[in-house]
Amino acid sequence: MPILVMKFGGTSVATLDRIRRAAKRVGREVANGYDVIVIVSAMAGETNKLVGYVEETSPLFDAREYDAVVSSGENVTAGLMALTLQEMDVPARSWQGWQVPLKTTSAHSSARILEIPTDNILSKFGEGMKVAVVAGFQGVSAENRIATLGRGGSDTTAVAFAAAFGAERCDIYTDVDGVYTTDPRISDKARKLDKIAFEEMLELASLGAKVLQTRSVELAMRYKVRLRVLSSFGDMGDNAGTLVCDEEDIVESNVVAGVAHSRDEAKMTLISVADRPGIAAAIFGPLAEAGVNVDMIVQNISEEGRTDMTFSCPTNQVARAEAAMKKAKDEGIINFHDLVADTDVAKVSVVGIGMRSHAGVAAQMFKALSAEGINIKVITTSEIKISVLIDRKYMELAVQALHDTFELDKAGA
Ligand code: ASP
Ligand code: MG
Repeated sequence: MPILVMKFGGTSVATLDRIRRAAKRVGREVANGYDVIVIVSAMAGETNKLVGYVEETSPLFDAREYDAVVSSGENVTAGLMALTLQEMDVPARSWQGWQVPLKTTSAHSSARILEIPTDNILSKFGEGMKVAVVAGFQGVSAENRIATLGRGGSDTTAVAFAAAFGAERCDIYTDVDGVYTTDPRISDKARKLDKIAFEEMLELASLGAKVLQTRSVELAMRYKVRLRVLSSFGDMGDNAGTLVCDEEDIVESNVVAGVAHSRDEAKMTLISVADRPGIAAAIFGPLAEAGVNVDMIVQNISEEGRTDMTFSCPTNQVARAEAAMKKAKDEGIINFHDLVADTDVAKVSVVGIGMRSHAGVAAQMFKALSAEGINIKVITTSEIKISVLIDRKYMELAVQALHDTFELDKAGA
């Protein structure tokens, strides 16, 4: 039998009624001739509640016990989903991570998947079981402790199962009906994409289009898992969602596929550092060691052997970055005049594989921003992405202007 992986996110299993609706979709695929692996998240809000319990009990918590607590939400939905399917006369069984066993690293609260043995579940399919309901987000470490995969990790569980079992497709059911050209809350012209390339999705996922966990897209790209994002609400028949696929499968596409934004950015500038070989390593080494996720980097021109170095990082890491730089200064590793943090910025990016073969996208982007009077503070580019840092108050305006400029409201324009 061909295998299908279906993943239901927290809002899709938020109540018993929604679990029933999700189970009906599963039953339909079983009727279509699939053996189905269902991956479930915890009921909406449940994981946040559990995280809250842990933090209240122990501010500097032991990560192994954090995982023991926060993984439990998925256990509840896995059992309830199996029971619901059984009530519909669909032979189903639930599996917690350790029962598979989904083996992970020991990096508690952000573990990575090492291996998913398939024999256990396949032999149950062989015995007539039609649906394996697997608790997402969790696995077991070499030390035999429960480990979780980081927030949003059920997406990664789903893709990893699809890869391990050679599933025909991995359907991610969520509360939006697909991937949009931009955030519909910001632009009412946002349009659902029928298809998007893995690489574009990867950029959009990491740029703050919160539909899929970034790691799940990386995995899907590596193992060429056809990934579909679709809504679990609405009618059964009518939604094809968005297919995340290889770029070869996309016949017609815009130069720019989407405009992403991220509010959660801070711009930090080290004023007057020595402009000498090794200075970048001396700055970014300690930042990396302190766990600061540096994104954009700009080194300004130098004057009399001194220069300014600007970088961006998530807002909640500013304090950590400041501490790391102060420590490096105290230890004589670097020397700077001042460290200035600007936390009122946002990042806006345009993404599209078409940029590889089209010149002038950057110029078009900057022109559109300047027409709105928006000042650009930092720019970075990659082969398929251009990002700018701007004042946060202009973020919505910038997104709308870029969406218009690249005519993203028109399919295949
Ligand atoms: N329940 C976990 C979370 O909220 C994992 C997931 O839903 O993907 O992060
Ligand atoms: Mg999610």
